[in-house]
Amino acid sequence: MKALQYVEIGQPPRVVDIPKPVVGPGQVLLKVTAAGVCHSDEFVMSLPEEQYTYGLPLTLGHEGAGIVEELGEGVEHLSVGDAVAVYGPWGCGRCHMCAQGKENYCVNAAAEGIKPPGLGSPGSMAEYMLIDDPRHLVPLGDLDPVKNVSLTDAGLTPYHAIKNSLPKLGAGTTAVVIGTGGLGHVGIQLIKALSGAVVIALDVNDEKLALATRVGADHAILSDANAVEAIKNLTGGLGADAVFDFVGVQPTVDTAIAAAAAEADVTIVGIGGGVAKVAFGGIGYDVAVRTPYWGSRGELIEVLDLARRGQVEVEVEVYSLDDGPKAYEALHAGAVRGRAVIVP
Ligand code: NAD
Ligand code: ZN
Repeated sequence: MKALQYVEIGQPPRVVDIPKPVVGPGQVLLKVTAAGVCHSDEFVMSLPEEQYTYGLPLTLGHEGAGIVEELGEGVEHLSVGDAVAVYGPWGCGRCHMCAQGKENYCVNAAAEGIKPPGLGSPGSMAEYMLIDDPRHLVPLGDLDPVKNVSLTDAGLTPYHAIKNSLPKLGAGTTAVVIGTGGLGHVGIQLIKALSGAVVIALDVNDEKLALATRVGADHAILSDANAVEAIKNLTGGLGADAVFDFVGVQPTVDTAIAAAAAEADVTIVGIGGGVAKVAFGGIGYDVAVRTPYWGSRGELIEVLDLARRGQVEVEVEVYSLDDGPKAYEALHAGAVRGRAVIVP
């Protein structure tokens, strides 16, 4: 079968031919219907050899959807032909976090070498994909896999980040979204659907700001040295009640901290390496800084329900598997509007 793999450190991913996986006891084989392209893949492929821990060759793709092709021995409650989305942050399934569906925070995954698809295990950018356990699959029903596959990360991650800040986002409050790409443009819609907050979106790219406005941002402003002042002006000098940074580089983390009102949440989702400099007096009183990772299985079900009701819609650009490397080139150039999705 065809797969898009990261083969060599520092080189672009390649389309290769590899054996179709063989389903083992307890596993599920999917025929992939769609696979999303995330900025985290680019982060992984930018790592120097000494920091790279994902194994080579690596079949990319941690956002996946498919049709059940074959069931391993002992798998129940699923049928061949079922349409499913893949819950990506695989854990041990036994610890207290996993018991709550929060496999993203599994306490045993690292020690047991359990790795998410596309981030250590073979991912979704292939014709077929092996799922280690049926609990990692969530029913997609009649949702279009191509339009909704990215909800498994670009929806789930902002949903998890935003849900925990909802108590701070009542009527009359303000939320700031920094970076209105794949995650950010979904995040804006989630804040509008779930809270009473006014949304101020920040990006460095005019097209992304136009997308932010189209998906519901009340204000779209350039992410530069004047952004904090602009946010203060829009909030009567107080600042924002929650700031979600979907970039995470030093300038955006600094903006997030400086734009936070007293008792605000500053949530750093982007993995750009920026450091939150927090000291008494250097940040609003009682501001909480959070660094969430992905989301729970229950939250994925909730995000898909929002999509079913039309409350969240991913802007997608479709690529074939053969054109997969071009999707990563476009992402690198900042030219993807919304999310790139690969259809094998
Ligand atoms: P993306 O490339 O689709 O979007 C990034 C957006 O940020 C683009 O619109 C870009 O124009 C904008 N941007 C770049 N520099 C900026 C700046 N200085 N100020 C404002 N905007 C700026 O990326 P994505 O796939 O949405 O991922 C966003 C980030 O989240 C990445 O760092 C990714 O690795 C990370 N991520 C984290 C998690 C997690 O669980 N914490 C999960 C998925 C992705
Ligand atoms: Zn666990």
